[in-house]
Amino acid sequence: MSLTLAVYGKGGIGKSTTSANLSAAFALQGAKVLQIGCDPKHDSTFPLTGTLQNTVIDVLTEVDFHIEDVEIDDVVKHGYAGVDTLESGGPPAGSGCGGYVVGETVKLLNEFGLYNKYDVIVFDVLGDVVCGGFSAPLNYADFGVIIACNDFDSIFAANRLCLAIKQKSVRYKVKLAGIIANRVDYEFGGGTNLLEEFASTVGTEIIGKVPYHDLIRRSRLAGKTLFEMEGPDKALCVDPFTEMADYLLNQPRSEVPSPLGDREIFNVIGGW
Ligand code: ADP
Ligand code: MG
Repeated sequence: MSLTLAVYGKGGIGKSTTSANLSAAFALQGAKVLQIGCDPKHDSTFPLTGTLQNTVIDVLTEVDFHIEDVEIDDVVKHGYAGVDTLESGGPPAGSGCGGYVVGETVKLLNEFGLYNKYDVIVFDVLGDVVCGGFSAPLNYADFGVIIACNDFDSIFAANRLCLAIKQKSVRYKVKLAGIIANRVDYEFGGGTNLLEEFASTVGTEIIGKVPYHDLIRRSRLAGKTLFEMEGPDKALCVDPFTEMADYLLNQPRSEVPSPLGDREIFNVIGGW
């Protein structure tokens, strides 16, 4: 078993919440999992560990970038269900490059002979690939996974991510495994019509639907995965993650997407 995912989506859409709960679901199905947070916010792994761990860049800066002075325990922590966690950290604001940070992180893991030891690696990546740097995890991933909801902005970002995956797939093995619909509001009918229209137009599908739910919001604040939370709707929140982990571990359908032009996208989803 070997699966490397790169999770993308517009800012605040729920990438870290989704990544952490997916990582937990993989681990509960017996996989040895590493989650790599690639956002300067470095809160990707918070639901798994309950702490804001030091980033690779913080640790490397402390030892003046002498990798030989780094202990693996300085950067890899252990979280819920045995998931290993790492935060790459971000480049200094206004300078530096996210791709460099991701490259250094993979180099460090290889140095410790760790990179190939995991069954599943989840890269939780910043924003909507606004620069080449933050598309770097696509160089390592088997699959990109896009988080979006049923609104124009997140679908616009999803389309740009499809473009990045298509371009990367020319030189790398990466394909798109699908779109995860987050914040599906069942109190307002649970509509995902725009997202479904978009998915079929670019040649992919929705691989899971996660409800908009207070239990999810609270789990994030509590530094816990959904598996550790209690509440009457727990199954509604947890089951999509268990099902998606199972799907992704068992050779998901994958595509090189056919993204829309920036103007074309208004025609496809603007008429609803
Ligand atoms: P990202 O990593 O994409 O920036 P986060 O995972 O940090 O986004 O989520 C942003 C905020 O949205 C968090 O406060 C989280 O609690 C909330 N959130 C994400 N998904 C849901 C959901 N399905 N239901 C309720 N709140 C959610
Ligand atoms: Mg995040």
